[in-house]
Amino acid sequence: MIIGAVLALAFILPSLAADKPAPEVAGKKKSDSYDEKFMRRAIEISRTAIDTPGAEPFGAVIVKNGEIVGEGLSHALLAWDVTSHGEIEAIRDANRRLERLDLSDCEIYTTCEPCPMCVSVIGVARLGKMYYGAKHKQAEEAFSVLPPNSRLSVNIKKLVAEQQRPVDQRQLPAEQKLAAESFEILKAWALERKAALSK
Ligand SMILES: [Zn+2]
Repeated sequence: MIIGAVLALAFILPSLAADKPAPEVAGKKKSDSYDEKFMRRAIEISRTAIDTPGAEPFGAVIVKNGEIVGEGLSHALLAWDVTSHGEIEAIRDANRRLERLDLSDCEIYTTCEPCPMCVSVIGVARLGKMYYGAKHKQAEEAFSVLPPNSRLSVNIKKLVAEQQRPVDQRQLPAEQKLAAESFEILKAWALERKAALSK
């Protein structure tokens, strides 16, 4: 059912089936144009968490050529979405507004140094520059007044260590199953894609 819906969507909106690269700005990707108003906007977004049950005070904005193209607030409990961190929400918003995945011509402003999940997504989206407010240690200090286990905190050291180890040496038990069948789909998809691109 879900696959059918995705296929139907890809058929109706063929532009979604392929990503557009970020346009080059005069032969060079635009970066390093800090503007305090965007950091203040990210902080304003994070402040809304104080009155929003299920949200946490991490806000982010994505800026392209001096304009906000994405905004995000961490609201994992409100959305029942463990990936709902401010940076990821802002990146999702920018992807949708710009209708592309590559954000290398954009900058991210975030109110806190990002966690490893967000560092990865910032890298995947190829953002050109990051400006951040508080450091990890400051977030830890601020949240130290909370009772233990009152929120799903991110264990940064553990995640970084996991990412650096090969899949079979991580703390997360993992076993490879149906490798040939899984590989077949990868190959079949790539061949279909190649054929579609050459049309
Ligand atoms: Zn994060």
